[in-house]
Amino acid sequence: MGETHSLSLRFLKRYFLPSSRQYCEMNDELTDFVPAYVELLERGELAGRVANAYQHLSDCDLCGRYCHVNRHETVQGAVCRTGERAVVYSFGPHHGEEDPIRGRNGSGTIFFSWCNLRCVFCQNWDISHRGAGREVESTELAEMMLSLQEQGCHNINLVSPSHVVAQIIAAVHRAAQRGLRLPLVFNTGGYDSREALALLDGVIDIYMPDMKYGDSRIARKYSKVRDYVEINREAVKEMYRQVGDLVTDERGVALRGLLVRHLVLPEDLAGTRNVFEFIAHEISLQTYLNLMDQYHPCYRADEHPPLDRPISHDEYQRALAMADKMGLHRLDQRQHRYW
Ligand code: SF4
Repeated sequence: MGETHSLSLRFLKRYFLPSSRQYCEMNDELTDFVPAYVELLERGELAGRVANAYQHLSDCDLCGRYCHVNRHETVQGAVCRTGERAVVYSFGPHHGEEDPIRGRNGSGTIFFSWCNLRCVFCQNWDISHRGAGREVESTELAEMMLSLQEQGCHNINLVSPSHVVAQIIAAVHRAAQRGLRLPLVFNTGGYDSREALALLDGVIDIYMPDMKYGDSRIARKYSKVRDYVEINREAVKEMYRQVGDLVTDERGVALRGLLVRHLVLPEDLAGTRNVFEFIAHEISLQTYLNLMDQYHPCYRADEHPPLDRPISHDEYQRALAMADKMGLHRLDQRQHRYW
């Protein structure tokens, strides 16, 4: 484990929900950390942010696709197939995320349906490509967030959130007024527009983007997307500008910052060296990195060799060695325990 970034713990209870007994018991050590969106709420700026975000839906530029569809009226032409309301597949505590995200009590995951990418190897294709799930109003989304807090989760983990930025900000506004005090994790495929990230500035505390590819031609072939690398890199730079390196509390639970995910693909289709060079030279050597080894063929991967096989031990070891050579030392280590 590399260098740790900690804030001092204090036993401040000023942000407890008085009625949240379970939450109090499970999170008996609170920090003086205040989520970014609470400050925005207290400055009276969060409501305006909601209105601004919904305006973007009428000529949608909320992700790197730039479909310019009026989502108040139609989903025709919207790659994400999502209109005014978000579609949610599931929500609940999740213990399979990175150590700083799952902590002891789990990450409060909200899994959004549909996606702005079209990866041929998608592990959740029925949710992301077929839209399994149901439409929810922002009021219900806010209830989910508060429920996850009540269950003792360390954060609200927004999975596949790029296309539902407006709905998320609206829900956060409602939930914050009712006592939501957990950091938000923006768990994204990394194809996010600068317009969306401007709306999220001061709302999100933890950005967790994929950096899927180091070559846009490969991205186009396997994720049906243009200029992935250019848009992804601009987005990650902006995320880093907003939140900096990952900071954790004394238990190792993330409070704020950037966590990058990179999935190693067969025959280096992910362009691992290019991705690491970018992180090392243009982001930070303190970047917390999850170098993922779990690739296995899903969805239509069998039609696209070499994606029709898992990665080899050697392929993963080479990626690890490359991270080491570039000086990227904050690698997620699932076997490590903070408690
Ligand atoms: S969120 Fe992205 S994919 Fe969806 S309509 Fe807007 S620009 Fe298109």
